[in-house]
Amino acid sequence: MRRAKSCLIIGAGICGLTAAKLLCEFGMRVSILEKSRGVGGRLATQRTEAGVFDHGAQSLTVRFEIFDSFVTEWHQRGLLSALGQRLRGLPGDPGTHQPHFRGITSMTAVPKFLAAALPHHPSQRAKRAETCAGGWRVTTDQGSIFSGDAFGGMQIEGATLSGFFAARQLLSLSH
Ligand SMILES: Cc1cc2nc3c(=O)[nH]c(=O)nc-3n(C[C@H](O)[C@H](O)[C@H](O)COP(=O)(O)OP(=O)(O)OC[C@H]3O[C@@H](n4cnc5c(N)ncnc54)[C@H](O)[C@@H]3O)c2cc1C
Repeated sequence: MRRAKSCLIIGAGICGLTAAKLLCEFGMRVSILEKSRGVGGRLATQRTEAGVFDHGAQSLTVRFEIFDSFVTEWHQRGLLSALGQRLRGLPGDPGTHQPHFRGITSMTAVPKFLAAALPHHPSQRAKRAETCAGGWRVTTDQGSIFSGDAFGGMQIEGATLSGFFAARQLLSLSH
């Protein structure tokens, strides 16, 4: 099998961004297509005159060891603060006693940090994906065409965990 050197990723949520980061670390070129103007997906923040509101996830819950390693790094970088102890027994405590973390400035702190180091294309809604010359071509609603050796649609349940597995699968296919 030909080794994939580039990958198109649909969606700049935490999952797509994390997968893109992992693939980059393994030397793959990535391009992320995002239909919205900003990154983060369901980690979403609204800035209004009255203040800043997170209107998607209010925290990141660590359910798996793999996700823990990502969260630990973001925590050490000062992007997240740990909420687990403070919420325990209070309204908002999921009761699972799994650690959970909030973005320091907002829930988009991590996605913005990840996206800053990754090539991403905002306001590009992927419409069609098709194979071409051993690779993939994705056409967007805006009429742009992007191509890569591999492609992954990361909008699936399990967020970062599935991003990790998707990235690992792509890497195993390409080696
Ligand atoms: C109200 C709420 C509360 C939550 N609370 C928690 C919590 O307490 N703890 C926790 O761990 N999780 C929580 N979650 C879940 C968490 O937000 C999600 O699991 C996670 O953010 C999903 O990440 P994702 O990257 O898989 O998908 P998304 O964040 O949905 O990202 C998908 C991205 O793909 C883009 N996209 C979709 N289609 C296209 C297309 N055709 N072309 C280009 N781009 C496209 C979207 O615009 C989006 O940016 C909550 C979610 C919500 C909504």
